[in-house]
Amino acid sequence: MKMLIEMMPERAGHLELTGLPECERQTLPGVISQRACMLYGARWMIAAIRDVVHLIHGPVGCAYYSETVRKKNYRVFSTALGEKEIVFGAGQKLEDAIREAVSLRPRSSAVLVYTTCAVGLIGEDVEAICKQASASLGLPVVPVNCPGFGGVSQGKGHDVAAAALLEHFIGRGPAGPPLENSVNILGEFDVQGDLKEIEHLLQRLGLNIICAVSGRATVENMARAHRARLNIVHCGRTGRWLAQKMEERFGIPWRKVSFFGLAETAAALQAIAAFFNRPGEAAWVEKEAEAARQRALPYLRRLAGRRVALFFGASRMGSMARAFGELGMEVVLCGSQFGCQEDYTESRRCLGRGTPMIDDAHQRELEEFLHRYRPDLLVGGTRERFMAHKMGIPFLVFPQETSPYAGFNGFVNMAREVAALVGAPVWRLGNSGFSRKEGEEMVAKYVRYMERGINENERSSL
Ligand code: SF4
Repeated sequence: MKMLIEMMPERAGHLELTGLPECERQTLPGVISQRACMLYGARWMIAAIRDVVHLIHGPVGCAYYSETVRKKNYRVFSTALGEKEIVFGAGQKLEDAIREAVSLRPRSSAVLVYTTCAVGLIGEDVEAICKQASASLGLPVVPVNCPGFGGVSQGKGHDVAAAALLEHFIGRGPAGPPLENSVNILGEFDVQGDLKEIEHLLQRLGLNIICAVSGRATVENMARAHRARLNIVHCGRTGRWLAQKMEERFGIPWRKVSFFGLAETAAALQAIAAFFNRPGEAAWVEKEAEAARQRALPYLRRLAGRRVALFFGASRMGSMARAFGELGMEVVLCGSQFGCQEDYTESRRCLGRGTPMIDDAHQRELEEFLHRYRPDLLVGGTRERFMAHKMGIPFLVFPQETSPYAGFNGFVNMAREVAALVGAPVWRLGNSGFSRKEGEEMVAKYVRYMERGINENERSSL
């Protein structure tokens, strides 16, 4: 494998066929990494918190960059620092911006101030300014210290944002005994309605969600989160640390589960039912899993034996590899921009030996892989989309942009969408003998699908 993807000597250990790739290292200077900055990592973790002001303290470009997270646009404020503030100090501008943002959003329960590279370099005492503003405004003004250059990847931004939530919001409400049948979900971002699917399944077990960090987090429900009986960790990279700290601080036990794929969803529900000592209530789980498999069957037939390469986030690698296995697809590459040791260990457990794993792959390595292996599908982030399309390889963005993939219904959605993508005739244009006009029509249809999801009529015509 290493012979087939030409690796720079310094990167050789980042590709592994049987063991774990080297990870959590600084990207080599000069390499066009697919990673994001620490600010973006923090935004990824907490952008969805609704009732707070999100203030990006830095040049306006940082605000523009961090406005869209998981294809969703969020309202952010910016101090829009210019040359003058970089030279003479930006403290006054920050104070003014906090006040102005709160006056524009008077019902906000808190202010989150994200620091950026410029602020990290000029060394402003952002914490002191936030404390002062907090005292005068009478609401929490919390610094999230995430200058883009910090850490080796966006992963550090996840950690810093989680720490800010723990220190300033989680468990700030009145003490009290655990609330019956209550859970938190940590590392769940409600992508395209995933959280609703999960909530529906938990409700069938008789459980209520107090707080989902951060897909449905508010200042009020984070303050009550310490009263949950169980923390369910969905994304390990963004939820595990928080779960460990909440166990230390509030004594809340936690379970790492996944709601992607039939087997993982069934195992998750059974583990949660067992925790609440009600195994009988999970009896419907197997039935639901089988019913979903039957609904997905027409798509599974089309996908059997197809080859898929995965390259995205971090801790969803293993569970998504399993889910693609359930679609009947062979995983031929599994990689991440910023996976940690735990992520790769878990993924290797799911993949077994022999499937190549790659860490922090850069564009040339991915291109080379696609050229030589021609998988039937590449699953990745937005950055990899156009590379795959230019090479005539079907591409699925993950986290997904169309419908929920979590839970049993989500698995059927995933099967339907992957089958439509892989089977679209547009990919056969190169050797099909279609006329130019026919080709253009197919491309237009495909682009429509990519932009707003597919409906039943369109699917039959693709
Ligand atoms: S790397 Fe620095 S300058 Fe660039 S977006 Fe991130 S925080 Fe802003």
